Amino acid sequence: MARVAIVTGGTRGIGEAISVALRNAGYKVAANYCGNDTRAKAFSERTGIGAYKWDVADYQACVDGVAKVVADLGPVDVIVNNAGITRDATMRKMSRDGWDHVIDTNLGGCFNLCKACWDGMLERSFGRIVNIGSINGQAGQYGQVNYAAAKSGIHGFTKALAHEGAAKGITVNAIAPGYIDTDMVAAVPPNVLEKIVAKIPVGRLGKADEIARGVLFLVADDAGFVTGSTLSINGGQHMY
Ligand code: NDP
Repeated sequence: MARVAIVTGGTRGIGEAISVALRNAGYKVAANYCGNDTRAKAFSERTGIGAYKWDVADYQACVDGVAKVVADLGPVDVIVNNAGITRDATMRKMSRDGWDHVIDTNLGGCFNLCKACWDGMLERSFGRIVNIGSINGQAGQYGQVNYAAAKSGIHGFTKALAHEGAAKGITVNAIAPGYIDTDMVAAVPPNVLEKIVAKIPVGRLGKADEIARGVLFLVADDAGFVTGSTLSINGGQHMY
């Protein structure tokens, strides 16, 4: 039986590459998104993968969304918590709303999806969870106290949940991408981006497919001994 995977933020950018890679590897994929219906529709038409609209920051919406996926595809074996946003501002200018929105989406979304699927994974003694963190959660970044805190939190969340799942057949890992060529990075001013690329030893931005490759490794049935780890995919920009 094909395994069922939910990819949050799975209709564009890194998430789209992950959804397609999982589908190509034989998984039944549900790609979640939040607001961009046009892109989601085009994604589904192009790939044949179903797009499911809900806000990962809303717990009840996650419970309802997971129930819909289960009804359509079957019990969820794999979660890729990829949905993420930035609301960059220096501490002087950051609003409390800008803080809450980024924490609730990037970190709260991981809790919400895992919580909605956890009991089922325990009952079936199998689960693969991959949380998408960031190089900026590892190293920090100017103007990103909200985003860096959320992504850093993801790394702690991953390790703690990995302890709970370890004896139950459930692995929980994180990927910390460096700068990847997506809409999110396109929003960075060109002069800033130029300076960022100059600091990447590989000499270029990463590709979404290069993150998807890491996800495929971590969710495989025979990756059961890999848990609580963070895979850095960043072109050598941050090594530790
Ligand atoms: P994009 O901005 O290109 O895409 C974001 C995706 O997340 C979209 O599908 C979007 O849906 C979805 N999304 C946003 N908010 C919500 C929400 N509340 N509920 C459900 N879905 C939501 O992002 P990237 O592909 O660049 O990034 C993907 C992940 O990788 C993020 O977690 C990001 O922080 C992380 N990352 C990215 C890096 C990069 O360089 N690009 C570097 C390091 C980490 P919709 O289309 O409806 O808006």
